[in-house]
Formats: sequence, C-alpha cells, structure tokens
Amino acid sequence: MESAENTESIAPAATPQFSYRLLPELVDTGSDVTLAGTLALSQFNRGALQIRLSDGVSYNLNLSNTGTGVLLSGTAHAEALTDCTRCSEEAKISLQAEVESYFIIDQRYHDIAEEDDTAIIVGRDGKVDLVEPIVAGLVLEVPFTVLCKDDCAGLCSRCYANLNIEECTCIEEPDPDHPFAALLALLDDEGNLREAPEEGSTQEMVT
Ligand SMILES: [Zn+2]
Ligand SMILES: [Zn+2]
Repeated sequence: MESAENTESIAPAATPQFSYRLLPELVDTGSDVTLAGTLALSQFNRGALQIRLSDGVSYNLNLSNTGTGVLLSGTAHAEALTDCTRCSEEAKISLQAEVESYFIIDQRYHDIAEEDDTAIIVGRDGKVDLVEPIVAGLVLEVPFTVLCKDDCAGLCSRCYANLNIEECTCIEEPDPDHPFAALLALLDDEGNLREAPEEGSTQEMVT
C-alpha cells in the first residue's frame, strides 16, 4: 500500500482534475498500466450528506486493455468526517472502496456501448476522467446510518438537546392509548395529582 507522504495542500471544496490519456499507450490488447497515489479530493456528497476528507483519497488503480475497451479496476481508501445521523455532531468513517469502470476506445464498438450503458466511449483526445469512478466507488461505501459512537443517544425529539452531553427536562409525551392514560390526565405538569374541584378550599403548596 502506498504511503500518503504527499503533503501538498488540498484546495478547499475544489474537485481536483484526475484524467488519464488511454491513447495511444493502451491501444493494444493486453497493455496495462498501474496508477497509485493520492487524489487531493476534499469532499463529496452522498445525497444531502457531505463527506469531508482531510487527507484526500489514496488509490491503487489498474487500467487494462481487454480487447474491446479499457477496464478500470482497483481500490480507493479515505478517512472521512461527516455528520452523525442521530446527533449531527462529527462522525468518523473509514472508506475502503472498489473502483470499477469500462472505457470503449474504438468507434467500431459503438454497438457494444449501446448494449452496455455503463461503458464510456473515450473521446477524441483519448483521455478519461478518473475522479468520477473513484467518487462513485466511495459513495457506495458510505453507510446508510453514520454514528459518532455506537451508543450515540441522539437529540431530544422535543427540545433538540444533545443527549450525549446533557439531559433535558422534557417529559415523555403520554401515549393516549396507554392503559394508564386516564390516570396520567389527573396529573399536572410536575407529576402531582391535580386537585379535585370540590377540594378547592385546600391551598396549593407553593415553594
Ligand atoms: Zn451522534
Ligand atoms: Zn428535551
């Protein structure tokens, strides 16, 4: 695994360019090239969720001419920060992605491209963009639920207090179907029994 000794600064929120010229190097069947390094990508999105990368993406890719086109395969790894699904605080995730794509490099193979809409036909300049397949692989690895810690207590649904760092005083909403719902209705907000009207002469204790 290549080390990420690359210390070049990562431009904030800019998508770096990473294209590779397949032609003429990979024009012959069986020819291949290995690319390893770090892509200075600082963020990407999975839907509305922003994934922030402090050290970019380390990649190890292989481009290989299979006869009808060039197969891209390999792996990408990134340490990322995003928002906890429950409490919105920062959550760490480690992404280890498979990268795969297929590039048709010859006009004669248009028929194949029509059958396989995942194939990308290489343009006249012979270059292909490698950022998109890397990001596509990483997006698939972002878990549906991202937690800052396994037992994240989340936010109070009423006052939005972060229950990991504070307790709130919200009383749980009584369930109207609960067998004791009628009894709960006899209690005031502080949990004391409401005074019956005929006992109105009794003074309420006020501290
Ligand atoms: Zn959390
Ligand atoms: Zn609360």
